[in-house]
Amino acid sequence: MDLTIECVLFITGLVFGSFLNVCISRIPREQSVVSPGSHCPSCGASVRWRDNIPLLSWALLRGRCRHCRAPISWRYPAVELLTGTLFSACFPYFGASWLTLKLCIFCFLLVGLIFMDAETGLLPREFTYSGIVLGFVLSWVAPTDTAGTQFLLRLYDASLSSKGLALLDAALGALVGAGFFYLAWAVYYLVRKRHGMGFGDVALMAMAGTFLGLKLTLLVSFCAPVLAMLYSILILAVPALRATALGSEFNAGPDVGARDSFLTHEIPFGVFLGACSLGAVFFGEWMWRWYLGFFR
Ligand SMILES: [Zn+2]
Repeated sequence: MDLTIECVLFITGLVFGSFLNVCISRIPREQSVVSPGSHCPSCGASVRWRDNIPLLSWALLRGRCRHCRAPISWRYPAVELLTGTLFSACFPYFGASWLTLKLCIFCFLLVGLIFMDAETGLLPREFTYSGIVLGFVLSWVAPTDTAGTQFLLRLYDASLSSKGLALLDAALGALVGAGFFYLAWAVYYLVRKRHGMGFGDVALMAMAGTFLGLKLTLLVSFCAPVLAMLYSILILAVPALRATALGSEFNAGPDVGARDSFLTHEIPFGVFLGACSLGAVFFGEWMWRWYLGFFR
């Protein structure tokens, strides 16, 4: 029975991953995700259903268009496999529950945003804003760990119904997550007179906050900047990595030195926020326990 559910979730993930690929290619370019149907970006030939089966078609066609043999990006099977894996990973963690459904939706939104930010440096509102609304609504049905808000309530000797607690936790998660990065954004702008990251990052954190709740949002707010900093150092230290760096910012041309391009161009920070949020879904509890272990 469990194996059946796992398989169904995996296949559902593959199908949703396939749809995500369409979103990733089209939404940042403000194209419709419905029409026209799938077509080869090189020759424009429309893709028949049998060439549109997740993972399988890409493998059988060896990553090339059937008509013009132009290579098809590895991003297509990667997004499908990642979404399928994340969907089926939710079940052993959260069981047959609303929470599994909620976190599958969260994973879907995050994978889309991570790849859109990596490819175009954009975090479209279609995903972030609708994610904020969905996160709120679903926190009512299936709250995540509300320990952070419970801790605050105890400090003030206040109490709330379980539904009230769930909504407050989602609201505080959004407020703290977005607030922290809005502050960082504003301070950076005041000091350097230009944007260090996009406002999309702030919206992404608000969305993550509603899904994750206060406790796990704090974890993401701490881990994502550390991860982004390590990545920047790595890119600076290893010139060979610069050509494959996320986003186009680092490929600023031969006359721009690595240091300059590092200092004057933003990195796609949403990739790190998204990746840390995915990590928080599955390993957040474990990381908090590990961290709190130092204070015992
Ligand atoms: Zn083609």
